[in-house]
Amino acid sequence: MSTNQTSAPAATGRPDPVYTPDAIFFWEGAARGELLGQRCADCGRFAHPPRPMCPWCRSVRRETVTLSGRGRVYTWVIPRHPAPLGFAAPPIVALIDLEEGIRLVSNLVDVDFAAITAGMQVQVRFEPTRGGKAVPVFAPARAGAGR
Ligand SMILES: [Zn+2]
Repeated sequence: MSTNQTSAPAATGRPDPVYTPDAIFFWEGAARGELLGQRCADCGRFAHPPRPMCPWCRSVRRETVTLSGRGRVYTWVIPRHPAPLGFAAPPIVALIDLEEGIRLVSNLVDVDFAAITAGMQVQVRFEPTRGGKAVPVFAPARAGAGR
């Protein structure tokens, strides 16, 4: 037994998302490898995070649409204190502006922190969580991919 072992072993792996009632469709889509968004069925504008009422026209008629998964980096940071639970190294947390005009909080993967630039084109992918679910993350878009 290791001398630095604690009585409660630390959970390893990316934590599961917390499902809130308005965002169940979003996380169930992510678990299937789909990036879904909420669009107003009356004015057609997107709202994220998902919510009961359109912030633009106050309609409660919502529809779920598949998003492109393409976006650009708005800003980014590595949170170091407190250390995020379940990660071997702190992830890069970023705000991603999707083509559809909504902004997601996510992680950047497969990129060196020093190589990230504002406006960098990124593409969604999905990473598994410790409980068998998945979350959307973003990686640099490959030239010529997906367009
Ligand atoms: Zn609306």
